[in-house]
Amino acid sequence: MSLNAEWMQRDLAVLWHPCTQMKDHERLPLIPIKRGDGVWLEDFDGKRYLDAVSSWWVNVFGHGNPRINQRIREQLDSLEHVMLAGFTHAPVVELSERLVQITPAGLNKVFYADNGSSGIEVALKMSHHYWINHGQPGKKRFVTLTNSYHGETVAAMSVGDVALFTDTYKALLLDTIKVPSPDCYLRPAGMGWEEHSRNMFAAMEQTLAEHAHEVAAVIVEPLIQGAGGMRMYHPIYLTLLREACDRYGVHLIHDEIAVGFGRTGTLFACEQAGITPDFLVLSKALTGGYLPMAAVLTTDDVYAAFYDDYATLRAFLHSHTYTGNPLACAAALATLDIFRDDNVIEANKALAARMASATAHLAEHPHVAEVRQTGMALAIEMVQDKASKTAYPWQERRGLQVYQHALERGALLRPLGSVVYFLPPYVITPEQIDFLAEVATEGIDIATRQSTRVSVASDLYPNHRDPG
Ligand SMILES: *Cc1c(COP(=O)(O)O)cnc(C)c1O
Repeated sequence: MSLNAEWMQRDLAVLWHPCTQMKDHERLPLIPIKRGDGVWLEDFDGKRYLDAVSSWWVNVFGHGNPRINQRIREQLDSLEHVMLAGFTHAPVVELSERLVQITPAGLNKVFYADNGSSGIEVALKMSHHYWINHGQPGKKRFVTLTNSYHGETVAAMSVGDVALFTDTYKALLLDTIKVPSPDCYLRPAGMGWEEHSRNMFAAMEQTLAEHAHEVAAVIVEPLIQGAGGMRMYHPIYLTLLREACDRYGVHLIHDEIAVGFGRTGTLFACEQAGITPDFLVLSKALTGGYLPMAAVLTTDDVYAAFYDDYATLRAFLHSHTYTGNPLACAAALATLDIFRDDNVIEANKALAARMASATAHLAEHPHVAEVRQTGMALAIEMVQDKASKTAYPWQERRGLQVYQHALERGALLRPLGSVVYFLPPYVITPEQIDFLAEVATEGIDIATRQSTRVSVASDLYPNHRDPG
């Protein structure tokens, strides 16, 4: 038995994997990874895979990055962890100073959680609690966009909108208000992104006019709806939203968990709209993809609403055990150093241009409805019928064919349904981008060649992170 097969067998005896119909692994091999090096992951049989999706969008500077490794090692020698209530430590103070510095003006306080979903819970609770502290406890609902994704915990799921997924748990969810997404894939033919995004704002304006009295906050994924299929929109929507939230007395929560740290072409997506949200939630690339951590940045106004004598019971009594873990802070500090010292945002412009040119031919493919891009995220939408943009039935699992082909060719290219996308580490080379484009083109040809595809497991439940 190969080493891969051995590890797979031991794994399947005891593990239950995330976002996976485990029965799929009767046919789909699980890939045990032995080591990572830059953009490459290597399995136990020595095969290498180019990590085109940054291991679920976290890894920006490559696996085993020497500078991040070094910083974590140094931290390990002095302090691995201490609770953050009543105590503090150098890396968390330094990181907070740096985050306040590099985010838009006005975000002056940082609260930590230990994963993205928990960060969303913090922002939702803080927002509602702010209104309670201001004598408006009726402001308890959240406005969210259709096709949103904000995480897996129950409140985060409530503000998300992946129909088949959330339907199962409907009985558990908060009652949120959904507004149609400015998703530019759905714009009328011939219309530009900006005009469509502006037009779509009318529904948001109307919702706020009607419901502001009972709304705590609007929550959005700025510029890219990631798990919803890398759907994109124009920054004007965020500019209009900021202005409307101010006018109606509603908080604005930016979930930049996926898009923060350079993915959209600027360090943070809100920069492109020229705005400061009331809450900015960061995670994923925050630690360079090394350790779980989330940061929720907020304003002096929000902070002040909680600052009082203990007996008034206005404090935010929310805690995650691993809040502000020093090793995660060290990884984040090393990551921020690389952004600063290597002029990453500027360098990424050439890589983004290469991603565009390497995939431009796919726009002409008979089963590709759109190739879209925002900065270092590029998505290719496979469809059954190009003219009408008719999607493939999810049961056909076309994306899975691309995934499997890519693995054979040495690339980790895990699609979202029928959307093939590149979200690579920023240390990728132009030649490696060309390789990915070649592999994706072959995979799309294979996946769209036959009129129907037999699903691997017909009982498979479709899901936002599932390649099928
Ligand atoms: C991944 C993601 C989350 C959830 O983060 P976890 O760390 O997986 O809990 C929330 N929002 C967005 C936009 C994400 O992409």
